Amino acid sequence: MLTLAEWGPRYAELRAAGLAEAPWGGPLQRHRDAGDTRLDRLRFDDSPAALALWNLLLTEEDRLRAAKADGELIVGTMKDLGTVPVMVYGLPRTRAFYPDGAWWLPCVQQLGGGQLAAADALGASERLCPVRALLGSFALGSDFPEPDLIICAVGATCDDLSAVAQRLVGLGRSIHWWNLPHRRAAEPGETVEPLPGGGHAPARLVRHVERELALINDLLTQRAGCSPDLVDAIAHANAVRSRLLRLRGLNAGARAPMPALELQVAEMLAVHYCSDRAATVAVLDQLISTCEQRIAAHHDAIDAGAVRVYWVNPVADLAAMNLIEELGGRLVGSEFMFPHAVDLLPTDVPPLTALARAALADPMVGSADERVTRIALDATTVAAEVVVLARIPGASHCPSESLALAQLPGLPVVEIEVPPLIDGVRPAMTTRLQAAFEIARSRR
Ligand code: SF4
Repeated sequence: MLTLAEWGPRYAELRAAGLAEAPWGGPLQRHRDAGDTRLDRLRFDDSPAALALWNLLLTEEDRLRAAKADGELIVGTMKDLGTVPVMVYGLPRTRAFYPDGAWWLPCVQQLGGGQLAAADALGASERLCPVRALLGSFALGSDFPEPDLIICAVGATCDDLSAVAQRLVGLGRSIHWWNLPHRRAAEPGETVEPLPGGGHAPARLVRHVERELALINDLLTQRAGCSPDLVDAIAHANAVRSRLLRLRGLNAGARAPMPALELQVAEMLAVHYCSDRAATVAVLDQLISTCEQRIAAHHDAIDAGAVRVYWVNPVADLAAMNLIEELGGRLVGSEFMFPHAVDLLPTDVPPLTALARAALADPMVGSADERVTRIALDATTVAAEVVVLARIPGASHCPSESLALAQLPGLPVVEIEVPPLIDGVRPAMTTRLQAAFEIARSRR
């Protein structure tokens, strides 16, 4: 594991040894110099694969701006996390991204970008989760380019994103809303359909979401001048998802080939391919190959005997992922709120059916109990020794999850709140995690 400063000589060494990079490659220090100051506080894996991963992540806004300047259609997709972008990438010269990803900007820029202050000024205060940074980003125009089209899911989605998106309309943005309904239980005798990830939904709900997605398909066709190739788009989505599943599998075994921070960033690629589908596949292949080589060489990136942690919810401060390892844990599984963006899409049904089922598999549109059931199953499958529930400040969905998760049978559960910068609460987080890891070790 390297600090940012240590990556400087490491980068020079790799270049001298003939490292080939994508056009968006380069030393990590330049991102820090451009304002991503949190990089100073993180510890990174030392592989070329990790370097490529970070460069892909941290060049996204520049690549989007270049694509827009080149005349590509830029679609801002909001809230569904992983479904509409699959459709968008079925079009030529079109890119989808999630403005919701501004969630991480206050962390990465250590509040230096002013997004939260701008959101405050627009009435989106800290009573909302960090997604309010999205509003600040739109107002400042300083991060991602202005999308040519915005598509946002509403319905059984959280109040936070809905409030922020509605405020965006007040700022003059036109949004295509689509309805993502609550995944209710089937009534007695009602026909159900299987969902990716193992759940079920009433067929009537699937048909409803199909109709909503068909309207989006028409809209995309109209704006792009041609229809998305959804069969091909689903095949590409599954190519990404199968690689993520492989990466997860490699890191859930006896060896620990990749640190938690890089694993979280890799999973984030699932939702919209970091605005470059081909690059995402290439970076995932590099990560997988690095993990395979390390496992074959019995080389662990971190202590393989550390407490096996299953992590729930993304962390607003990426430094929390480093903290797991500093305290004697290792990430063996996670649910970052978008398992439906990683589960394979079915290929034996029409494309819109496959996508509708995936949208309905979103853990955030079903009951907290269903979400917890799947978390319990996944955590047991990867032989987790402790489950960490990372609470998100201001998020409207957390209280009910906490109650349900606390009932998880057989596994210690620890709940911590992770703000956009953990520095002020680090001692309290440390105490809680250390206690949980100690309990887990005592159960061995
Ligand atoms: S973190 Fe929770 S409350 Fe915030 S946008 Fe995501 S789902 Fe909504």
